[in-house]
Amino acid sequence: MTLRVRFAPSPTGYLHVGGARTALFNWLLARKEGGVLVLRIEDTDQARSSEEHTQAILHGMEWLGVSWDEGPYFQSQGLDRHREAALSLLESGQAYRDFSTPDQAAKDREEEVATGKRNRRARERADAMTPEEVEARLEKGETCAIRFRVPDGETVWKDGVHGQSRFRNEEIDDLVILRSNGTPTYNLAVVSDDAEMGITLVLRGDDHLSNTPKQVLLHDALGNPVPSFAHVPLILGPDGKRLSKRHGATAVGDYEKDGILPEAMFNFLALLGWSPGDDREVFGRDELVDVFSLERVLKKSSVFDFKKLEWLNGQHLAAKPVKELVEQVKWRLTEKGLLPEGPATGGDEAIDLYLLVDLLKVRARTVEDLLDQAEPYFSEELEYDPKAVKKQWAKDPEGTAERLARLDAEIGDIDWDQERLEEFSRGLVEEMEIGAGKLFQPLRLALTGSSASPGIFDVLVLLGKERSRNRIRRAVNILRSGELPSE
Ligand code: GLU
Repeated sequence: MTLRVRFAPSPTGYLHVGGARTALFNWLLARKEGGVLVLRIEDTDQARSSEEHTQAILHGMEWLGVSWDEGPYFQSQGLDRHREAALSLLESGQAYRDFSTPDQAAKDREEEVATGKRNRRARERADAMTPEEVEARLEKGETCAIRFRVPDGETVWKDGVHGQSRFRNEEIDDLVILRSNGTPTYNLAVVSDDAEMGITLVLRGDDHLSNTPKQVLLHDALGNPVPSFAHVPLILGPDGKRLSKRHGATAVGDYEKDGILPEAMFNFLALLGWSPGDDREVFGRDELVDVFSLERVLKKSSVFDFKKLEWLNGQHLAAKPVKELVEQVKWRLTEKGLLPEGPATGGDEAIDLYLLVDLLKVRARTVEDLLDQAEPYFSEELEYDPKAVKKQWAKDPEGTAERLARLDAEIGDIDWDQERLEEFSRGLVEEMEIGAGKLFQPLRLALTGSSASPGIFDVLVLLGKERSRNRIRRAVNILRSGELPSE
């Protein structure tokens, strides 16, 4: 039998991390088993659903690379079918009409709270009515809800994550399946849709665990084959409480904006509640399809570790082909006004974006981070990190100025490639009889404004001869003026 799974988000919010993880687990299983992933938008809560959220969910899935094979279906399109299902249960006596007044319903609940047990008062009132009475009340225009008649006994299913699971039916209320305004409730709609779409496995969050016995019973009552179920554990914030906005961004779209790569988010989400069984952490999508299995989904909740996401992002960033990053970096730099649209003019050598990205991607954790690091290479008025100034320039401004000035004077005739520059600079350091750091650290600051950068000869090549020398001279002037940038 072909595996048919589904992702069934309600468009009442953006695609959040928990939803995305559910989608991803379903996708991984479908890919692994040659199955089908159905996307169903559960939009029956008209007041809270919106087109904007639907679009954000679709976009989020596309961005992550979690593609669906069927759909999107919209739950609201199946309202007639849902109603028919409710009526068929009524017909077969597995559901009943509930004419309870709000007062009666409130009393029933009070009794349940007081005894700590479910009662079946609504059912008793319904059963006490003759069919003629029911007819008469309907004819008078009275409205009623339809409730499912929960059978006696126990509901058992083998959960794909939690194993054998059982629920005593006396603990399950006779749930409303059709409201008095004729709209179906969540459990009925889901059961009807899952059956219609031939879903064989319902894989979703633990928050739906208590719905599962109800859905198993409804499938049984409707004569549907009952799908398998698997519930993945909750995602917690670092403080052990359920992940929420308090902990930081929970919408997948926010991470996209923050420069997290989709493949890193994918990798990260896969590890939330699933483990490969060894200590590997960095996975590509295809590798995950190979190694993923329901058996290794963890039973206990997992913690959303923002630091780990950043770390994984750095790993994926470093492994990403430069070419793919260059386009992203290019438009963002242009947007920031740092890159002229079209070829560079004005005699300035254009910075080789390929080289820049290649040098920076191994040092950055996010694309944003990479851009921040890239910015100084383009800036006309380089700003210097005061801490670095204190450390590299302030101790001996005159001596530093002289060394940089000498470097500038002699470097003009050097062929501008890595090897020549290194050979020359190391020779100069020897002639000056100083440690290499005494020249290279102040130089790094002069070229990049900070004390952390790629290798200094790479930086020289990247900036080009003219720009490098301009920056060295500017530093010399500042050092000689004695007015060093300070905190
Ligand atoms: N629409 C439900 C939700 O977003 C999911 C229903 C299900 O997976 O059964 O929580």
